[in-house]
Amino acid sequence: MSTNKDQIHFSSKLESLYFHFNRGKNNLFAYFLNRVKWHLYPKFNYISKFPEHVDMELSSACNMRCPMCYTITENYIKNVKRTNMTLQRIEKVLKECGEKNLYSLRLSWRGELTLNQSWIEAIKMAKKYGIKEVSTLTNALLLTPDKFEQMLKAGLDWLTISVDGTGEKYNEIRAPAKFDDLIDKLKKFKEIKKKYNSVKPVIKVQTIWPAIKDNPEEYFSTFRPLVDQVTCNQLVDYLAQDDPNKMVHAPKFNCHVLYQRLTIGADGRILLCYNDEFDKHILGHVDEDSLENVWHGKKMSEARAVHKKNKGIEVYEACKKCFLPREHESFTTVNIGKRKIPIDKLIARSQDVSISKKYKGRENSSNK
Ligand code: SF4
Repeated sequence: MSTNKDQIHFSSKLESLYFHFNRGKNNLFAYFLNRVKWHLYPKFNYISKFPEHVDMELSSACNMRCPMCYTITENYIKNVKRTNMTLQRIEKVLKECGEKNLYSLRLSWRGELTLNQSWIEAIKMAKKYGIKEVSTLTNALLLTPDKFEQMLKAGLDWLTISVDGTGEKYNEIRAPAKFDDLIDKLKKFKEIKKKYNSVKPVIKVQTIWPAIKDNPEEYFSTFRPLVDQVTCNQLVDYLAQDDPNKMVHAPKFNCHVLYQRLTIGADGRILLCYNDEFDKHILGHVDEDSLENVWHGKKMSEARAVHKKNKGIEVYEACKKCFLPREHESFTTVNIGKRKIPIDKLIARSQDVSISKKYKGRENSSNK
């Protein structure tokens, strides 16, 4: 069972080590243990008392229309209610997570967390309940330096910012955000961390490969001085464009995610996993179920049993479309300084996506 094969690290091994050291700072032993469990539990099909990680979506709406994102698809717009998680539900989930010693929590999933007015409160609350690592992904459009400072003071451990490309490419993909504004913000975030003498939140930026394929080194050298880690993701098929007859699935795929994490949508529904973006497999609801019961419940147990027989992609609609069970092939190599970084991609997945082609339909889609 392989894990985390979809992300490419541009930072050097030493920089990555430093990133992990800072990410786990103040909880280094617990962090090390968490990493061991994260990789070993799936290998031995071991079901822990409580998940190691919870993805709790504060908002399922987004204020961007990125051309490669599932949130602009008709499927998402029709099937997923764009809403914000209520403070009452946030507190109920966090209380249970704290009581069950959850190690890590991510406050975002499909949408943009800053659209939920309670996002700073949610960070504070998560730390109050003792969750060791609190993180989030953001597009940073609404993330002002003042809000960043509030996040730092609230105790956020890790911030990932989606930054697809540099300059005009970024402006095109990440409209209405502007690249120059983002760079200004990152400089200010760095000053704020310095002011508080804090290594946290560690900041990672990530891009999709097509946005930087012409000059990956420029991307790395732009962000390296500003953030803690620079990564790149191959473009996966969030728009359901790939030909199923050409996809190649790993013959013995038994999904590791089912032993690591649980996902909660902004409406309170508990889902099979973070790759069920269209709410296809509902396991419960936070108003009626505890996370622990769902983790050990009938539906989750069935999903693990099906996957153990390597039948996940036959039985679950989300798994059929998911990128995790698909086989990779070697694609290209990137030179960053003296380092040569191999880049893989999914078999039958194009990485030469025309951005303008992907913009089609953006004007007609309403994502609020
Ligand atoms: S959709 Fe299926 S294969 Fe993909 S992460 Fe979820 S359980 Fe695993």
